[in-house]
Amino acid sequence: MVIDILRGQNQIGGSIIAVSTDNTKIMLDVGINLDESEKVEIPQIKGLFCDGQLYDAVIISHYHSDHIGLLNYVLRDVPIYMGKQAYEIVKASNSYIGKSIEFSHLEYGDGVSFQVGELLITPYKCDHSAFDSYMFAISDGYKTVLYTGDFRANGRNDYELLLSKLPKVDALIVEGTMLSRETFQHNIYEESLEDIAIGAIKKYNGPAFLMASAMNVDRIITGYNVARKTGRLFLEDLYTAGIMDAIGKDVPAPGTEGVKVFMTGGDKQYELLKKYAHCKIGKKGIAHTDFLMCIRPSMIHYLKRLNEIYPFEDGILFYSMWKGYQEREDMKEFLDYMKSKGVSVHTLHTSGHADIETINRLLDKVKPKMIVPVHTENPEWYLRYGVPVLLKDTGVVL
Ligand SMILES: [Zn+2]
Ligand SMILES: [Zn+2]
Repeated sequence: MVIDILRGQNQIGGSIIAVSTDNTKIMLDVGINLDESEKVEIPQIKGLFCDGQLYDAVIISHYHSDHIGLLNYVLRDVPIYMGKQAYEIVKASNSYIGKSIEFSHLEYGDGVSFQVGELLITPYKCDHSAFDSYMFAISDGYKTVLYTGDFRANGRNDYELLLSKLPKVDALIVEGTMLSRETFQHNIYEESLEDIAIGAIKKYNGPAFLMASAMNVDRIITGYNVARKTGRLFLEDLYTAGIMDAIGKDVPAPGTEGVKVFMTGGDKQYELLKKYAHCKIGKKGIAHTDFLMCIRPSMIHYLKRLNEIYPFEDGILFYSMWKGYQEREDMKEFLDYMKSKGVSVHTLHTSGHADIETINRLLDKVKPKMIVPVHTENPEWYLRYGVPVLLKDTGVVL
């Protein structure tokens, strides 16, 4: 078996990883670079993006753009495998912005092995800030490789249970996002964020807001739990509502007790809101209730209108995204506006990526004979494990 890191070895994001035998070629993830969301450059990978089809499958670990951003450019004949809920979420997200998905896909299930040519692939559901994320064990009958995708142990999925299922492997393709962060520390558990938020929200008598990505489903669940435990309605904008609706169960989808859906304006939105007529709420309704509202910078005009009939004094805003986004102009303007109206901004966040303890537990379990770091700026960190580590060369033959 041959592993080729075509992109994403000594960088975070943009992952494109080929695994092949003499007669079978698969690609694990086809991501864009994280700084590339405006204008996408398609790498000239023959048989995947150009010329005739050479790859037998693209297998997607999760729906973040640094793992799926190039999917629409994959040659039509290459089968694409994705988790069922991950696909539904991507479809809902695209549909909100009026885009259709231009690839067809095949589903895989947790723990259910499937064959692509000479390779047997077993997906293992893992925890990450993307819902429905997976690791993959890949075997050609002689050697076994595990690709972790992006993962963490501090979410709601049981890490110990995952570890108990994983095989020992010849090579481990492992992420190391957190290994380059200067102040590296243990991740806070997602569930602990609930207690932190509840403690904070009780100190304020005004409205409460949650600035989180709707695609970070775990964080939306955290927000919903906080709202329920503090006697507030959980207000979802149409985008968030659409994502929750696409997942259906075990999430605060429209129709769940304590969830209301609001619209921020526009005819297209009116069409969408009809779908949620049974649980919609207007500005006047919002002004007469206690709530925790999902917000984004693009809602600034809507919030200004809401503020005309409802003061935000003594309010709280949970900033629940990567802190780097605070450098963006629209985010700065938005947060400044909210502060000017008497809203206090609290950071409420934990990482979607494995901390050192989490990585060590994985290494102890799968006992790799070789380590292939990806999605990291500090691959040398893995040298401490005492097995060969692929640091610079892009490929290795097992
Ligand atoms: Zn990633
Ligand atoms: Zn990710």
